[in-house]
Amino acid sequence: MTGKVYLVGAGPGDLGLLTVRGGELLRRADVVVYDRLANPRLLDIYLRPGAERVYVGKASSQHTLAQDQINGLLVREAKAGKTVVRLHGGDPFVFGRGGEEALELVAAGIPFEVVPGVTSAVAAPAYAGIPVTHRGHNTSFAVITGHENPGKGVSTIAWDKLANGPGVLVFLMGLANLKLIVDELVKNGRPPSTPIAIIRWATWPCQRTLVGTLEDIVARVEVADFHPPAVIVVGSVVGLRDSLRWWDNRPLSGKRVLVTRSREQASVLAELLREQGAEPVEAPVLEIVPPESFDEMDRAIGQLENYDWVVFTSANGVKLFVDRLMSTGHDVRAFGSARLAAIGPATAQELRDRFLNVDFVPSEYVAEDVAAGLVGLGVSGKRVLLPRADLARDVLKVELEKSGAMVDAVVCYRTVPAREDLSRLASELAQGRIDVVTLASSSTARNLVSGLGEGALQLLSRPIIACIGPITAATAGELGLRVDVVAPEHTMPGLVEAIVKAIGE
Ligand code: SAH
Repeated sequence: MTGKVYLVGAGPGDLGLLTVRGGELLRRADVVVYDRLANPRLLDIYLRPGAERVYVGKASSQHTLAQDQINGLLVREAKAGKTVVRLHGGDPFVFGRGGEEALELVAAGIPFEVVPGVTSAVAAPAYAGIPVTHRGHNTSFAVITGHENPGKGVSTIAWDKLANGPGVLVFLMGLANLKLIVDELVKNGRPPSTPIAIIRWATWPCQRTLVGTLEDIVARVEVADFHPPAVIVVGSVVGLRDSLRWWDNRPLSGKRVLVTRSREQASVLAELLREQGAEPVEAPVLEIVPPESFDEMDRAIGQLENYDWVVFTSANGVKLFVDRLMSTGHDVRAFGSARLAAIGPATAQELRDRFLNVDFVPSEYVAEDVAAGLVGLGVSGKRVLLPRADLARDVLKVELEKSGAMVDAVVCYRTVPAREDLSRLASELAQGRIDVVTLASSSTARNLVSGLGEGALQLLSRPIIACIGPITAATAGELGLRVDVVAPEHTMPGLVEAIVKAIGE
């Protein structure tokens, strides 16, 4: 049976700008044919394992696959019975050759559908704080190619009409011809003082915007060393950016921030960073793995109701302990009348998510404060269970025992250096492409330094080093790192807040 081809708009880059329908189709696709301006991370997020990816390039000068080859590919794959997604940057029918592809499909008798996308012609100005229409400014806008087919010889663009016609002009593919564009507009009657904006890699974390007038923009582009892909906007609406900037002026806009936590834990921090405008760069330097033996944990689980307190010092501890409890045939009733303590709010939330209320969280989220708090609550003569990581510090156990508690510390997970190779990270650091390094634990600090090898200290000397708290900072210091930021509140939101503050200063 013949398959089907979906011409899908990927939007301009920001992952959230893919349509719901686009996401559904990517999930179902057997083959995805995509080009340079569609964010490839969409494929990592949506494709099912085994779906095939075909990159067909499309930098303005060198097409990796010529258009007729792309058309042929779509027809061939559909005839083989596959569900094919042809993923276009922006919208498939806005200068995307989606029209040509659709005509070929019709000619070959292949069924197809079109899923419009958010076009860069509108999204790029929007992310620069420029509305393409505003009642006080214009009654129309035009979207124009700035890269006419060189084979045409003479320009088919009616410059005289454009210069004096629709209020706002949006050029795609125009940066290489910028001089010609502004010259034609001025020659045909647009005042040289007309505002113009150029937005590069719009909606991506690395978006940059340049503003000027028709008169001075060419010189500005040279100084700023601006390159495609870029959208050009001409008209007085550009002036609204002064008041309406919202995306590229967030506290961490344009900053690339290294997240070193394990894959499973990275997403919370990454999301908080993204909210502030940063681009998180994930390089997990450690992995969470089960203990070498479950004997210790199983024994503790078997006599859980005999403990007066169970004290969790990490969200991972909660997850792995309760998972083991469930998988050995128990459930939360096994805690009996034991009271529960958590080192901080994320650990407490992990317990609440499992229908377990927390009896104690200290005001400072370090082991010393958990100990002091529990001592204050009277642990003398009490039995305390401490499910924890293999490399956990001993301070909590020691302090509680000093106060007369009987403490059983059991290993419920281990942190080991990630197997991933850090050479890519090393080269990003060497090129100065990481602005901030986050360290959320002593073991991450150690594994980062050892993972980067010999040149580690040199590589880590340029970015801002931000630690979650004093213990991590002390470890980083011992390793020879210069610590710039220590979060006053030892949580992920606290860490991000401290980075925002440091960058603001
Ligand atoms: N179908 C696409 C346009 C394809 S033509 C759309 O609807 O957006 C390619 C041109 O689109 C580029 O030369 C550039 O002018 C523009 N473009 C696409 N994505 C862009 C982005 N994220 N930032 C700036 N320009 C972009």
